[in-house]
Amino acid sequence: MLPRIAIIGRPNVGKSTLFNRLVRRKLAIVDDTPGVTRDFKEYEARIGGRDVLLLDTAGLEEAPPDTVAGRMRASSEAAIRQADLILFMIDAKAGLTPSDRAFATWLRRQKAPVLVVANKTEGRHGGMAAMEAYELGFGDPVAISAEHGEGISDLHSTAAALLPEEPEEEEDEKDRPLRLAIVGRPNAGKSTLLNTLLGEERMITGPEPGLTRDAVTSEFIDDQGGRVRIVDTAGMRKKAKVVEGLEQMSVGATINALKEAEVAVLVLDALLGLDEQDLRIARLAEREGRAVVIALNKWDAVEDRTAARHGVQDTLMTSLAQLKGVTVVAMSAATGRGVDKLMPAIRETLERWNRRVPTGELNRWFEGALEKHQPPLADGRRIKLRYATMPKARPPTIVIFGPRAEDLPEDYRRYLVNSFRDTFDMPGVPIRLQLRGTT
Ligand code: GDP
Ligand code: GDP
Repeated sequence: MLPRIAIIGRPNVGKSTLFNRLVRRKLAIVDDTPGVTRDFKEYEARIGGRDVLLLDTAGLEEAPPDTVAGRMRASSEAAIRQADLILFMIDAKAGLTPSDRAFATWLRRQKAPVLVVANKTEGRHGGMAAMEAYELGFGDPVAISAEHGEGISDLHSTAAALLPEEPEEEEDEKDRPLRLAIVGRPNAGKSTLLNTLLGEERMITGPEPGLTRDAVTSEFIDDQGGRVRIVDTAGMRKKAKVVEGLEQMSVGATINALKEAEVAVLVLDALLGLDEQDLRIARLAEREGRAVVIALNKWDAVEDRTAARHGVQDTLMTSLAQLKGVTVVAMSAATGRGVDKLMPAIRETLERWNRRVPTGELNRWFEGALEKHQPPLADGRRIKLRYATMPKARPPTIVIFGPRAEDLPEDYRRYLVNSFRDTFDMPGVPIRLQLRGTT
């Protein structure tokens, strides 16, 4: 399924001109679903390196209703319902008209992201004319001249960033095993946990070399019937112990294991609590963008369990805000108690890591977050943020647009990330935030 892009706007703004510029070849696809009265054609195009379908709405405007806005709406409805992205075209030379504005109001209620394309901006005053398009409230417009071919590469990259993530990976996701890395400092109980997991579950393959030299993978079927591949650094660890001494862990091996995994199980020795070495590993997992679950191991040997649990929670709160709310599974790898809680926790965290928030929902959060705490001033002027998209998950990645978005200070970025994580319930999941300024 290729993403669909609809180019819409009132008559004469230049839709057909742009359409002809973008289309690569004509497709014979006609929507012949029974009950669909207005057929429209789809054409293959390549936008910013992605294959897409352009929906041809030309000719649909001939519909009779009274106002231009009403006519635009009627003719565009079918296309918009199918579109993953809407290019809302205006004529910057003529300026915004009441029907543009009326149409914008209606467009705001649609699910697909809207990119305003300000056409006919060739010549000296073109850029200025495009500024007016900000008033429509869809964020940064892209200024182009469809006829003269100006601004088209900008249009390609901006539009591509707003398209849904490429589905390729998701499609065969079902057949692929869940990939886990078991990480932690030496003696936390990683090997014991691995053996317990492999012993209890139906093993497919024993330890065999992973993608990188120092990783070893094993595969089993868990009680949900899903394939699980564990990337382990056991082989490397033995060497590390000899070479670097017992207290050293191999950072390189840990990073390699993380790169092969989706979820990192951070094994802690509950008798020792969460210390600097553990935090370092947790930060590596976050840096690699992995979902994290904590296995609080050796629970059988802990005397004061309340204190042990609180100790870990407190350290997480103060030293590792990114992992606030991460699932902590108290267990004993040696006796096997509590180990059955691990896989469900992992699956749940993985689901959050995979989650895509629809653009409408995302922007409702975004507006609320801005209202609650305004973005700060930079050089005496308030930083305006206009629009958010989530182009990908695994890990969740939010892109925020605004003319000087890059100037946003670190603490406000953190505020947005935390607010997002809280609102969409994604503890233990690293969130990526990208800021895009105006060009
Ligand atoms: P549509 O009705 O929205 O499909 O608009 P068209 O593509 O048919 O264009 C309407 C008119 O605007 C035509 O006369 C085009 O030549 C003209 N036009 C399209 N793009 C540009 C542009 O970038 N600059 C200028 N000056 N005229 C343009
Ligand atoms: P690794 O270096 O992280 O792979 O740790 P190991 O799996 O080799 O375990 C280190 C030591 O901790 C061994 O002596 C294990 O027997 C012990 N150990 C592992 N899991 C548990 C547990 O759940 N409870 C207790 N009491 N000891 C454990």
